[in-house]
Amino acid sequence: MGTMSKKAAQAKLKQAYDLILEAIDDLGYPVKTDQNFAETAARAAKAMVEMVKPTEEIKEQIDTMLSRTFPAHYDEMVISKHNISFGMCPHHLLPVLYRISVAYLPGERVLGISKLSRICKLLSHRPVLQEDLTQELAALLHERMETRGSAAYVEGLHLCMAARGVGAHEARVVTSAVRGVFRENPATRQEFLDLVTAAPLNLL
Ligand SMILES: [Zn+2]
Repeated sequence: MGTMSKKAAQAKLKQAYDLILEAIDDLGYPVKTDQNFAETAARAAKAMVEMVKPTEEIKEQIDTMLSRTFPAHYDEMVISKHNISFGMCPHHLLPVLYRISVAYLPGERVLGISKLSRICKLLSHRPVLQEDLTQELAALLHERMETRGSAAYVEGLHLCMAARGVGAHEARVVTSAVRGVFRENPATRQEFLDLVTAAPLNLL
């Protein structure tokens, strides 16, 4: 993580949140007289630190995961569907709720299935643009795993859209990216899209 330690960054964030709270009070919400805000700057700073997973940390964890793959005789599509994770939009620093599906066609080796979910979580846990996240997921599965092809389908509920501005509560931003066979063969791409857009299992 940059040149600054996590602790120093958190202290800086706390100062910033103190100022934000002052401005909210200026806007007309009585922050200064409400005890609920007594520790808010420190808590908000800690939460922000948790929402920004350092690039170096993500890289290390992904390297570790990708170093443990298994030989496989399976050459059909492997899909990890509807992984829920949280991120933050780089334009407003507001939360985004993601539902991410990824797939690949194995080359020589496969990845433990839970690792696909972990990769989705890891890569989304930072202020990354949804479009870039989608491309990175597909590229990672294709290039780093030496697969025959890969795909990512990402649905994002952006609070910057849902909670303010246009107030599009129902709006989902949908992005997809494909590599290799998924790009070259429209039937493979369509099979993936059909599988990930079918109604999800309703377990609740
Ligand atoms: Zn935004």
